[in-house]
Amino acid sequence: MSNFLPTGIQLSYLVAATLFILGLKKLGSPATARQGNVVAAVGMLLAIVATLLDQHVLNYEMILLGLAIGSVLGAIAAYKVQMTDMPQMVGLLNGLGGAASALVAVAEFWRLLNTTGGVTLDANISMLLDVLIGGVTFTGSMIAFAKLQGIMSGAPITFPLQKPFNALLLFAYLAGSAYMLVAPDNLPVFLGIVFVSLVLGVMFVIPIGGGDMPVVISLLNSFSGLAAAAAGFVVMNNMLIISGALVGASGIILTEIMCKAMNRSLISVLFDAFGTGGTSGAGTASGTATTDKTVRSIDPEEGAMMLGYARSVVIVPGYGMAVAQAQHSVRELADQLERMGVDVKYAIHPVAGRMPGHMNVLLAEANVPYEQLHDMDDINPQFEQTDVALVIGANDVVNPAAQSDTNSPIYGMPILEVDRAKHAIVIKRGMSAGFAGVDNELFYKDKTTMLFGSAKDMVSKLVSEVKQL
Ligand code: NDP
Repeated sequence: MSNFLPTGIQLSYLVAATLFILGLKKLGSPATARQGNVVAAVGMLLAIVATLLDQHVLNYEMILLGLAIGSVLGAIAAYKVQMTDMPQMVGLLNGLGGAASALVAVAEFWRLLNTTGGVTLDANISMLLDVLIGGVTFTGSMIAFAKLQGIMSGAPITFPLQKPFNALLLFAYLAGSAYMLVAPDNLPVFLGIVFVSLVLGVMFVIPIGGGDMPVVISLLNSFSGLAAAAAGFVVMNNMLIISGALVGASGIILTEIMCKAMNRSLISVLFDAFGTGGTSGAGTASGTATTDKTVRSIDPEEGAMMLGYARSVVIVPGYGMAVAQAQHSVRELADQLERMGVDVKYAIHPVAGRMPGHMNVLLAEANVPYEQLHDMDDINPQFEQTDVALVIGANDVVNPAAQSDTNSPIYGMPILEVDRAKHAIVIKRGMSAGFAGVDNELFYKDKTTMLFGSAKDMVSKLVSEVKQL
């Protein structure tokens, strides 16, 4: 039995790792994403059960207590947290993951010091890396969470000699680590390294504007995976190493996708202030329209007539639809239009909203059929044949300045080419700018009409007006 158990555990880990990979693959498409979530969750359950069967476990009561507390907190959070608050929720979870990984290293250091009479060189290297990555992930994620939640200002925080101070911190970490490699049992130096790592996390995130926090959170997500992998090396656990590597790799790919879709480099996100002062609230920047231009405003009745008598309508959802939680009304409107013979499609921009896949998740929640969702490359050539593009709470992702104004901060960002449709109706509350804080020429074009009001309210009004046609 004692020989069987470790092999059984390793095999379970192998199956769990396979389920993680399959789950990740399925998460790549909205049609299979829910299934992917379940597959990965089963993998996680298997990994936990296998670990609990390991003979190294000393105290089941504490584990069960932790499991109960964690499950209750997780369930409450999953029910309570709004979809638009998801980035800070993920930030919080990343941070806790980083803290857990760093604590594994601290506990293992303590154990080796007190039980085996010495810390070996290879254990030391893993622990030093774990403490750095886990510590930076923990405090960095907490700052990102605080900025997005509005607990602290989203504006970049800078002070004189900040860069030399950061360099000094990094030097202190490296010098302390080098010292630990020759004198591995030195507890005060080890604790000093833990402290420096925590401060480095704070210093890494405070100079970055609140608006860029989703990208930072995705990067920290990748770090939390690396921290878990490092913790895996500390306690020699294959499951932690594999799952940490998967999180590390997928987090960095997601970061890259987000940067690409915004046409920004990771370096510019981390080191240039942009979208500053943003929180998770509506319209992060406060840019407003220039006064010498006019827009044409319509009421829901006129909007309903344009939509109801169109042959084709493309719905373009954005951050405003998410904040207003208008997805169910949008689905109702689309259903009603389809019943009247209108061809309805949805155009999904990769960074519409405030997190990757934001629109897909919301529309899936409202049971919008996947085949009606079209990504940017697919829908852009179709706008020319579209009678009405209905923009609901989207702004930057439909701003033509990204293609025409070389001076615009969003120049080069790929956009949904709504201005090529025959008519555009834009639902938003006023003329506030979107995330990037820039004015949008689309709103002033002759073919564009504005339907001012909150997305949910306006779409519900459109539904009842369309029904009366
Ligand atoms: P934007 O932030 O550009 O614009 C949203 C618009 O919604 C605002 O202009 C606002 O105007 C309107 N709005 C706000 N609340 C409501 C409401 N209740 N009802 C109706 N309208 C409302 O959103 P987009 O989705 O177009 O673009 C996303 C932006 O976020 C991009 O710049 C992207 O780069 C950025 N970003 C995206 C990330 C992602 O992963 N998806 C990550 C980080 C950044 P008004 O106040 O007048 O109503």
